[in-house]
Amino acid sequence: MTESGKTDRAEPLQRPERNMETNPDVVVIGGGPAGLSAGAWCADLGLSAVLIEEGDTPGGQLHSINNPIVNYAGLEAANGREFAASLLRWQEQFAFRRLLGTRVESIGAEPLAVRTETGAEFRPSAVILATGVSRRKLGLRGEDDLVGKGILRSGAGQREEAKGKHVIIVGGGDAAIENALILGEHAERVTVIHRSREFRARPEFLAKAKAAGNVELRTESFLTAIRGEERFEGVDVAGPGGAGDSIDADLLLVRIGFKPNSELLRGLAELDVSSYVQVDVNSQTSIPMIYACGDVANPISPTIST
Ligand SMILES: Cc1cc2nc3c(=O)[nH]c(=O)nc-3n(C[C@H](O)[C@H](O)[C@H](O)COP(=O)(O)OP(=O)(O)OC[C@H]3O[C@@H](n4cnc5c(N)ncnc54)[C@H](O)[C@@H]3O)c2cc1C
Repeated sequence: MTESGKTDRAEPLQRPERNMETNPDVVVIGGGPAGLSAGAWCADLGLSAVLIEEGDTPGGQLHSINNPIVNYAGLEAANGREFAASLLRWQEQFAFRRLLGTRVESIGAEPLAVRTETGAEFRPSAVILATGVSRRKLGLRGEDDLVGKGILRSGAGQREEAKGKHVIIVGGGDAAIENALILGEHAERVTVIHRSREFRARPEFLAKAKAAGNVELRTESFLTAIRGEERFEGVDVAGPGGAGDSIDADLLLVRIGFKPNSELLRGLAELDVSSYVQVDVNSQTSIPMIYACGDVANPISPTIST
């Protein structure tokens, strides 16, 4: 920034024979808050940039946030969609190309190249990976097919559906227990199933769950099957010592954490033990001119502002 508060704009790079359509200065992969910010900064610095987003609308995880957002400095929103609408209005002023509904399939390091599922290839000077994270799955049959047929996408967003029902929640962190409390306000019964002996959720959530008369906490147990063909009907569970159990239920919510969308850099750049991209203070990965930002490189504090 200059003293007047304006960005100290870089001179556009001089590359007379460069085709900016296919050989932009920067390719940004991912159109969540991190990717949109990266695209905006590229434009502000006079760099040509192409942002490639798999979804039809940018915004990433914001579209799945049903709670109010009150912890982003200077901007509050009733939910993630409202925050995304504001973000999308803001980013329109910046001149960078957006390629929506397009998945990046691979990145090459020498020479630097980005290839999409449609067969397009870009040869930028730099790549910024901002692909975020995805919810972890159980890997059981029916987990995808029964979404909307008894398997919930969101506890807060679908709480009304829980009225008078038996809900099973899988997980042991804040998200699992917070959803048990939210759904427990409407459901007849909530059963939380967690594979470890101890819950990771914050103590105040756990205390409330234990005090609620209709929330059962089962530890050292994991799902072995999701039952139901047309609709979710219940789960099979292996408990302590491998004892099997079958639980009938109306609804299922899986909250077992997130995994970084870092497959594009697997075998190329260094990832940590949980597959988050490792970056230096300049957000550069172990490969020169490949950068990563946002949740995909941030295992500790994944938030909109980071
Ligand atoms: C329920 C919930 C509540 C939250 N509440 C808050 C809150 O109150 N405050 C807060 O600060 N944060 C909150 N967060 C976290 C916040 O939403 C994330 O930190 C933020 O969205 C991360 O932005 P990102 O751009 O790094 O990744 P994402 O938002 O995950 O975006 C990544 C984008 O990359 C795209 N992508 C992935 N792979 C490819 C590919 N191969 N090709 C093309 N595109 C690809 C995806 O489609 C996605 O649009 C919440 C998250 C959730 C799920």
